[in-house]
Amino acid sequence: MFKTRVTSVIAHNLGFPRIGAQRELKRALEDYWSGRLDRSALLRCGANLRAQHWQLQQQAGLDLIPVGDFSYYDHVLDTSVLLGAVPERFGWDGGAVDLDTYFRMARGCAPSGADAPACEMTKWFDTNYHYLVPELRPGQRFALSSSRLFDEVAEAQALGLNAKPVLLGPLSWLWLGKARAEGFDRLRLLPALLPVYAQVLARLKAQSVDWVQMDEPILALDLPSEWRTGFHTAYNRLAADGPRLLLASYFGAITSMLDTVVALPVAGLHVDLARAPEQLPAVHAAWPQARVLSVGVIDGRNVWRADLEQQLARLEPLHAERGGRLWLAPSCSLLHLPVDLAQETALPRELWNSLAFAVQKLDEVVTLRRALAEGRASVRTVLEASTAAARARALSRRVHNPAVKARVAAIGPELTQRGSPYAVRAARQQAALALPLFPTTTIGSFPQTAAIRQTRAAWKAGRIGDDEYERRMREEIAQAVQRQEELGLDVLVHGEPERGDMVEYFGERLEGFAFTQHGWVQSYGSRCVKPPILYGDVSRPAPLTVSWARYAQSLTARPMKGMLTGPVTMLQWSFVRDDQPRADTCRQIALALRDEVRDLEAAGIRVIQIDEPAFREGLPLRRSEWPDYLDWAVECFRLTAGGVRDETQIHTHMCYSEFNDIIAAIAALDADVITIETARSQMELLEAFRDYAYPNAIGPGVYDIHSPRIPTVAEMRALLEAARRHIPDARLWVNPDCGLKTRNWPEVTAALHNMVEAARQLRAASTRGCADAADPVPSRHRAGAG
Ligand code: GLN
Ligand code: ZN
Repeated sequence: MFKTRVTSVIAHNLGFPRIGAQRELKRALEDYWSGRLDRSALLRCGANLRAQHWQLQQQAGLDLIPVGDFSYYDHVLDTSVLLGAVPERFGWDGGAVDLDTYFRMARGCAPSGADAPACEMTKWFDTNYHYLVPELRPGQRFALSSSRLFDEVAEAQALGLNAKPVLLGPLSWLWLGKARAEGFDRLRLLPALLPVYAQVLARLKAQSVDWVQMDEPILALDLPSEWRTGFHTAYNRLAADGPRLLLASYFGAITSMLDTVVALPVAGLHVDLARAPEQLPAVHAAWPQARVLSVGVIDGRNVWRADLEQQLARLEPLHAERGGRLWLAPSCSLLHLPVDLAQETALPRELWNSLAFAVQKLDEVVTLRRALAEGRASVRTVLEASTAAARARALSRRVHNPAVKARVAAIGPELTQRGSPYAVRAARQQAALALPLFPTTTIGSFPQTAAIRQTRAAWKAGRIGDDEYERRMREEIAQAVQRQEELGLDVLVHGEPERGDMVEYFGERLEGFAFTQHGWVQSYGSRCVKPPILYGDVSRPAPLTVSWARYAQSLTARPMKGMLTGPVTMLQWSFVRDDQPRADTCRQIALALRDEVRDLEAAGIRVIQIDEPAFREGLPLRRSEWPDYLDWAVECFRLTAGGVRDETQIHTHMCYSEFNDIIAAIAALDADVITIETARSQMELLEAFRDYAYPNAIGPGVYDIHSPRIPTVAEMRALLEAARRHIPDARLWVNPDCGLKTRNWPEVTAALHNMVEAARQLRAASTRGCADAADPVPSRHRAGAG
């Protein structure tokens, strides 16, 4: 029997990164998928990682160790499999879901079993982690279909650990799911789901589990009232017998849900005080003293070391009132953090000293626990070090640059305004660029061949010098330019051979960003990203892209598009400093990029694209917070773009078509041209345009670059004809969905050849004045104008 150790405060954790400090799981998974590793070796790798991570948490001094946070792909998929929610196309016949059925759901294929379309994948709340969307249908049945959770609990107990199983709760699982059936209310499936959850809890109880953590992150969203009722139904059923439940919320305040939550018969509640510290008074007032309150005080989403004394000042009064029923934890699962700062040997000492990764976050939780239980004196040196680090960071000259702060403070409305309104600019740009109707262009990158990657790696490792690197890159650019001219594209790009990653390239050349060696975070399945650390005031020591752009323009008479990553995307794909508002950090990036935009213009670049693929994912979880975000995000884009003459054409690019709910903000960016992803879902985009007259030019992608398939001329023409019903010809561009870096040259050449041909046919049709009958008057007018 494992009983919670009686200490005056419990320290626990909501989840640990599963990928491994050296990305061991990534390698094992990819080897298994490609047949280089057998099943038992993969399972052994998983078991080793679990044991290693549990022991690490045990040694850190946690009282309860999360189990069930590990996954071979994704924890939402694990939950679906646990519940027997396996879509029919995977041919599952009931019984325990085997590993390859699991991987087929995730990837569409596996070493064994037939290929089938994978489940849809989407972002986990406002993180960069992606989960597999549960597929729901009317009348769906559920059945306990995996023993993995129970096996892992047994595994942890055999190691002598006090296991706290983690489950994604029924409401959140349903909320995250999707039903194909039009108008089907997925909440109707709750009654069928609860008996399986009850069965899971009963089995855990039989395993002597004391506490189960039920993750219900949707508590931080704006929920319809039926879903609140759903919480009552579910937890009244589940809390009846079975282990005690710790209801875990994170990623935001649950203040508006407090009435609902307090009425649930759960033994404990976890709240995120890193993201939403302001909710503490309300939560403390509402949540009964007799029940456990777990406070997530250490930020589980960001890499900064905590100021422990400051945290204690907040915790001590709470502890005085709640005593042993106060629990301490990181704010959310540590899934979103790199594993161990100790691996970073190349960061500047001062920066290193202000950081904490997953392992260090646990130490912080445990230090706070000791300070509360045994008094501050018991951890004096640790507290002093934390205070000293906080002070050093506040005073650091690497972090704070008065000139940058002054420049942000002086931003006035004139900086975010182009000289003239769009109509005037468009006429001037047309006079300067003389583009044909339906101009063709691409999104920036061309295939990143092995040769390109090897050259970049050799240069970074110092195996080739600057001159040789530059010579080879120029050769790549020259080839890309020549190919585009042969294809007959109208606005060219240099192809981005010098960029491995669109954020890293700029971050490495700006002050204020740092890069780790091992700071990998799971994005989905075996895929990891290594976000830069945006730690200080941002400035641009020297031009970032100008020499490449100038060289590329020198090779052609056609306009060469300058290519930049926008300020919102730079922010969104980094670990961002927490000592000033995100909006201010974003303004700093915008000002640095604004200088780059003006330098490109001065170097003779007449078209400049500012990519913002992450613009939409910055949206806050709650609608009420959208306007504030959109305000500053739009302002930052306009700051970046606003310093050029009317004749200079500003493009932006975004890779999604869910446009409808933010189309006004996208219009407010006032980019002259926007290129967006639409090839797969032209309909979604057109809906947005039916309801809103987008004022500027737009290039809806007609070539789905995510697929090796080469679209035909007819297909692309059809997409363009559909777009013409909503977008006037004079403002319609022809381009792929996104950059071409992941494709190869034969594919790209064939597809772009067809794309250019589709544009030509459209032009010919519209100059003959016999355009599609669905296209109204404007094309006939232009026919006369030639
Ligand atoms: N310019 C970038 C490219 O072409 C844009 C990438 C993106 O939208 N994610 O690769
Ligand atoms: Zn894109």
